[in-house]
Amino acid sequence: MQKIVIAIDGYSACGKSTTAKEVAKELGYRYIDSGAMYRAVTLYFLDHLVTPSNPREVMKALFAINLEFRVNAKGISELFMNGVNVEKPIRKMRVSENVSQVSTVKEVREAMVALQRKLGKEKGIVMDGRDIGTVVFPDAELKAFLTADIDVRAYRRQQELLEKDEMVDIDEIIQNLKQRDQIDSTRKESPLKKAADAQTIDTTHITVEEQVDEVIRMALSKIVRATTRPK
Ligand code: C5P
Repeated sequence: MQKIVIAIDGYSACGKSTTAKEVAKELGYRYIDSGAMYRAVTLYFLDHLVTPSNPREVMKALFAINLEFRVNAKGISELFMNGVNVEKPIRKMRVSENVSQVSTVKEVREAMVALQRKLGKEKGIVMDGRDIGTVVFPDAELKAFLTADIDVRAYRRQQELLEKDEMVDIDEIIQNLKQRDQIDSTRKESPLKKAADAQTIDTTHITVEEQVDEVIRMALSKIVRATTRPK
C-alpha cells in the first residue's frame, strides 16, 4: 500500500493530538506533534530570557536548539530538546501563555516548518498543528480540520491538566484558548485557517473513538486511491 501524509489542523484543544496519535497507531504511521515543537522553543526562550522581538537573540537561540522525537517503550512519541525529554514542562500553563506569541516570529516558523518537512519526507506520517495542510504539507493527501465549542474544549483541556496534577480554573483555560485562537488566526506568518481542500470534523458531540474512526475512514479511502492511481 502507498503511504500518505495526513494533516490535522484546528483550534487549540479540539482533540487534534489525541486523534492524530490514535490514527498513527492504527495505520502504523509516525505521529508528529508540531505544537510540541513550538512549545519547546517557547520553553527555551523563557528559560534563557530570549526576547522574541530581537532577531539576533532569536537566531542565536534557534541555533542552540536541537529537537528530536523519540519513541518510548510504550510506542509513544516524545519530544527531546537538546537531549532532554521536555514532554512535561512544555504542557505547563507558563508555556501555554507564551507559545502563541513566540509562534508569530518569522524565524521561528521558518525553522520549525523546515524541520517538519524533513520529518515528513518519507510519508507515512500524521502531523497535527495549525498550518500543516496550508503551509507545511499543502500536498497532503488527507487534510482534516477539527473544531469544537469553546466550553467543551476548555473542559477537556482542564481534565488533561488535572491528569498531570495541574489544577487550573476553567475561566483561565477559556481565556487562554480564546487568546491563542485569536493570535494564531490573525498572525501574519502562516495563520491558522482551514485549507480549501480540508474536511471539517466538529468534535463537540462525538467521542474520541468516533473522531478516530472518521479520520481512519477518510485515510483508508485516500490510501486506496493513492495506491491504485496509475503511475
Ligand atoms: O497544538 P498546541 O496547542 O500544543 O500548540 C501550541 C501553540 O503552538 C498553538 O497555540 C500555536 O500558537 C502554535 N502552533 C503553531 N503552528 C503549528 C502548531 C502549533 O503556530 N503548526
